[in-house]
Amino acid sequence: MTEKFRALLIEKTGEGKDAPQSVRLTELTEDDLMAGDVVVDVDYSTVNYKDGLAITGASPVVRRFPMIPGIDFAGTVLRSEHADYKPGDQVVLNGWGVGETHMGGHAARARVKGDWLVPLPGGMTSADAMAIGTAGYTAMLCVLELERHDIRPDRGPVLVTGAAGGVGSVAIALLNHLGYSVIASTGRASESAYLKHLGADEIIDRSELSEKGKPLAKPRWAGAVDTVGGVTLANVLAATHYDGAVAACGLAGGGDLPGSVLPFILRGVTLAGVDSVMASKDKRLLAWGRLADDLDRAKLHAMTQEIGLGQVTQAAEDILKGKIRGRMVVDVKA
Ligand code: NDP
Repeated sequence: MTEKFRALLIEKTGEGKDAPQSVRLTELTEDDLMAGDVVVDVDYSTVNYKDGLAITGASPVVRRFPMIPGIDFAGTVLRSEHADYKPGDQVVLNGWGVGETHMGGHAARARVKGDWLVPLPGGMTSADAMAIGTAGYTAMLCVLELERHDIRPDRGPVLVTGAAGGVGSVAIALLNHLGYSVIASTGRASESAYLKHLGADEIIDRSELSEKGKPLAKPRWAGAVDTVGGVTLANVLAATHYDGAVAACGLAGGGDLPGSVLPFILRGVTLAGVDSVMASKDKRLLAWGRLADDLDRAKLHAMTQEIGLGQVTQAAEDILKGKIRGRMVVDVKA
């Protein structure tokens, strides 16, 4: 296939694993893609925190060069050798190492394993699916973990950290729709009106959680969705109610966990890990189905900005600086 399509490409500019990387907008053909049994005409991708790490090279997310970044995409099947998909099917992909070890979604065309795809949920557009993206789907996985640990709305409020970011924004909208009282922790007081519009009942400054605290603190929330990690996660656990649960998915504030076992052994608190990349197909179908039902579309649109491929590099830098509010959708053909 010699037809050209636009793509963002990360390349190494020297020899060896520590060589610097460069990113450019270019034109590729399907010969540049990697093996797979489904070819997708990509409509939209997104900029997630991990894309920020990959494109800036801040962390060694990309493990094969050259690489098209973009850990997720939504589009239409062009050709398929996979039994579950035929041309014209609308599909969503996130995770499985796409944008890390397999050519990703920041391109108008992708070739992937059909097993990695899920059908676009009914009533959802490609643009909606990528407004949700990996961040929103991860927020849903976190809510599913809270439900699995019986954190019902009548048990008490649920805290969301990194509230104005992508995972945080979708988590607030979901939890509010499901009837929870939501406490949003943010470093951006200027986003209070935005967070309240999404469904936050109370807003706290993230500095309340970012300094090393006591191993056990006054119980404040029945559950939490934590995107920050580090000291914040330790403090979140310390202030969780008896038999509460914390879904931990992120490390925007740090990858360590400098806390105590006391919340676990004296209060029966559960720390539930959430990974979106290798989640099973059943879990993915459940999460995407629940997103179709439980995420208010007007709120989704209110938290989303759309950009073209040429603006992705800047967005990647901005997301690592915590400057992006909500979600960033990439129209890969713009
Ligand atoms: P965003 O950058 O959109 O949001 C992160 C938010 O965290 C920021 O908006 C900011 O919120 C807060 N924050 C940033 N830096 C700090 C800091 N130093 N200390 C405290 N808070 C900080 O990223 P996403 O929402 O897309 O992702 C959030 C995290 O979840 C990332 O670490 C990402 O890697 C992880 N993630 C994990 C997945 C998994 O599979 N486990 C999947 C998807 C994401 P505010 O301004 O409101 O304070």
